[in-house]
Amino acid sequence: MSDTLEACVIGAGAAGLAAAITAAEQGVRVVVLERQARIGQSILKTGNGRCNLTNDAIGAALPLGTYRNQDFASNVLGRWDAAAVRAWFDERGLMTEADERGWVYPRTRMANSVLDVLRHRIAELDVELRCECQPEHVESAGEGFVLHLASGESLCSRAVILAHGGSRSVDIGGLSYQETAPILGPLGTDTAAIRGLDGVRVSAQLSLSRNERELFCEYGELLFRNYGLSGIVAFNLSRYARRGDHISIDLFPEDTEDGLAAFLGARRESLGGYDTQSFYDGMLHPRIGRLFRDSYANSHRLAHALKHWQVRMNAAPKPEQAQVLRGGYQVAAFRADRLEAYDYPGLFAAGECLDVDGPCGGYNLHWAWASGITAGYAAAAFSSSRFPSD
Ligand SMILES: Cc1cc2nc3c(=O)[nH]c(=O)nc-3n(C[C@H](O)[C@H](O)[C@H](O)COP(=O)(O)OP(=O)(O)OC[C@H]3O[C@@H](n4cnc5c(N)ncnc54)[C@H](O)[C@@H]3O)c2cc1C
Repeated sequence: MSDTLEACVIGAGAAGLAAAITAAEQGVRVVVLERQARIGQSILKTGNGRCNLTNDAIGAALPLGTYRNQDFASNVLGRWDAAAVRAWFDERGLMTEADERGWVYPRTRMANSVLDVLRHRIAELDVELRCECQPEHVESAGEGFVLHLASGESLCSRAVILAHGGSRSVDIGGLSYQETAPILGPLGTDTAAIRGLDGVRVSAQLSLSRNERELFCEYGELLFRNYGLSGIVAFNLSRYARRGDHISIDLFPEDTEDGLAAFLGARRESLGGYDTQSFYDGMLHPRIGRLFRDSYANSHRLAHALKHWQVRMNAAPKPEQAQVLRGGYQVAAFRADRLEAYDYPGLFAAGECLDVDGPCGGYNLHWAWASGITAGYAAAAFSSSRFPSD
């Protein structure tokens, strides 16, 4: 193949740009193909424009089940934990800082800064960018791959890195694929129990159960919508929820039910002649207080209601509201250490196109950077038929 490229990256999002920079830093000539008119547009939308790029909790003690397919992902995350990814960015000019939860942002709190740093490095390394270029089909041929573009042209490349994100926009014949489903977004629920609360924010503990088995329990920010539940804790719950599952909202997770009942009884006594609404004022959002008006007289009934407020999930997040598409290339088809397809030597994958996802807080972008860097090293080694000395 005389015109064969050394390494081709499909997709210029977080994973693709990290992969391209890494492979180019190893001395490989890299071409990035991006279907949009500009690179890195998905990065700009993250973290409400501030880009929560990693989380300091991603290290040796990462709790089991934080990531989907964590056994597979941990091969990459063990080497590229939060400290390593922050150092990678630091070396390339991006200053980062963590908030009190350990969520890491660029120091400027601007997603643009992340993209600027990646763009400068891409230019410095002479990585070739081809925008508005969309490979639709990749097939293995001879000593590499042929990429058939939407324009009708085709390209040949010795190594290919798939980094096209969550949607299945490229056809790779024999690679097994898990159909995608939107996660990390607002959930539809029955609305009778939360009527009138659209826009109300609280801190609460949400638990999810199916057939009386608890599948998820987390404390965090909850936002009521007229169709259901939003906010970070609801987004995280959406990774586990199915239609028909029970969601229980605990507004006082710091108290036992008996302790809360005793507190409510004492409050009623100390506030003496107050009416029902005044009893709730200063304790609950007024609109939530109104919903619990009928339970006011009985402290035990009210404590139970405030700790076991029940709604039923009836709709998954809409794709346009979800942060991540769960699913993608099945991880069993890839070597966990270098993200190379077992059946297609020279074909690598990184980021959301693999069936790995994490909760809110920088975990998904972290996976994109860490897997992109890993695939970039491996593709460079493959393309130049050597492996990194480290
Ligand atoms: C609103 C929003 C906010 C988010 N905030 C955060 C956050 O703060 N922290 C966090 O960790 N995660 C966040 N996420 C999730 C995070 O953005 C993704 O996990 C991450 O961008 C995945 O990176 P990726 O490179 O794998 O895919 P993408 O970022 O989706 O990039 C894929 C790229 O490939 C291109 N492409 C697709 N198909 C083709 C093709 N056939 N040919 C050429 N190009 C193609 C796309 O145009 C795109 O540029 C957020 C997501 C959303 C939607």
